[in-house]
Amino acid sequence: MSLLLKNGQVYYKDELQNLDILIEDNQIKKVEKNISDGANEVKDCTGLTIFPGFIDTHVHFREPGHPKKETLESGSRAAVLGGITGIFEMPNTSPITDNKEMLEDKLTRAKDNMHCNYAFYFGATNENSDKLGFLKGFDGCCGVKMFVGSSTGDLLVKDDFYIEQVIKNSPRIVSIHSEDEDMLLARKNIIEEGNVKSHYKWRSVECAVSSTKKLIAFANKHMKNIHILHITTKNEVDYLRDNKTDFATFETTPQHLTLYAPDIYDQLNTFAQINPPIRTKDHRDGIWKGVDDDLISIIGSDHSPHTKEEKKQPYPKSPSGMPGTQTIGLIMTDYFLKGKITLKKLVDLLCVNPCKIFGIKNRGALKAGNVADLTIYKLNEKFTIKDEWIESKCGWTPFNGTTVDVTPYGTIINGKTTVWNQELIEKGFGKPYSFN
Ligand SMILES: [Zn+2]
Repeated sequence: MSLLLKNGQVYYKDELQNLDILIEDNQIKKVEKNISDGANEVKDCTGLTIFPGFIDTHVHFREPGHPKKETLESGSRAAVLGGITGIFEMPNTSPITDNKEMLEDKLTRAKDNMHCNYAFYFGATNENSDKLGFLKGFDGCCGVKMFVGSSTGDLLVKDDFYIEQVIKNSPRIVSIHSEDEDMLLARKNIIEEGNVKSHYKWRSVECAVSSTKKLIAFANKHMKNIHILHITTKNEVDYLRDNKTDFATFETTPQHLTLYAPDIYDQLNTFAQINPPIRTKDHRDGIWKGVDDDLISIIGSDHSPHTKEEKKQPYPKSPSGMPGTQTIGLIMTDYFLKGKITLKKLVDLLCVNPCKIFGIKNRGALKAGNVADLTIYKLNEKFTIKDEWIESKCGWTPFNGTTVDVTPYGTIINGKTTVWNQELIEKGFGKPYSFN
């Protein structure tokens, strides 16, 4: 099977160029001007912009355990309709993914069922902190996830001894939810029933900062790579700026770059409740500086769906989390179109850096020999994000009503036209990522 994409604006060598792309089976064969080779199928891409496949490195698809919130099928459908070609899925499902059998169970569930590519995180626990060796070279596993502060689900490694063990023993990158559990517990009296604005006061800046400092110290001590997820404070960014290290990378989310307290809690109430929390504007601006200064390398959505009924409960009964995998590509591309980030930074954050930092094989650029994963958008065409457009089973988005300057169009996964003209066409062709 061959597919020729003609007349598109293609992201090539850090800029948009008028080029054609020839795909054979699952591979990019050529990226050149005026390709005239006969192909089984030719698609005219006039007016379309083609990026190397965007990857969402942080999603919770709730399978097994909570199929009413999300499944691997529904979550991956949301992803591809937003232009995402692959995801890393988190282990705080039910049961948790903390042993080889559960990891294999997820890979079996994903096979022929997920529309985008995928890899699953292995969940660290005290018990498995000295049994991580088997993860070396494990296809379909992107790394170890460690919660050092409790969030949704039962995964938690809170004691320094075990935190250090996990970092020291993991043969793969350790991605971390960084909030200090003891501080969170000690501050529980700050939680005010019925007042979601107490959420970010309880889960304070200091809870995140003290944890992140400690984690970086462990990574440096053992010369092991850690990746700190959803950075939410300017203080953590400043700390990394002043304490450069080869062993820690930072990630943040579109919602932490966009929304801020207290306004967002007035607008969305408990629907704005996530962990770590949406904080005040100075922190939002501080993490933007982290993006500007290349201290933050990846944007992941932390897609964490809960149903509207669950979210409507009074705080703190309301669960933390919001969806995001369908909107991450559009929100970030809109930031490029508005001049907030460069074109190169957009692609670095959503594709190049995830491939580099996690070692995803044969992806990260549109070039001959790479797997044909493509994100295709119409730039400078307005699109209003609405709850009704959301494919996630939760059926809502914090960006409901937001108009962006980019419209999703197509998603090509492993050479298969998975989405075209916003319609899901080829289903279940996602594959597990392999890693260096
Ligand atoms: Zn998460």
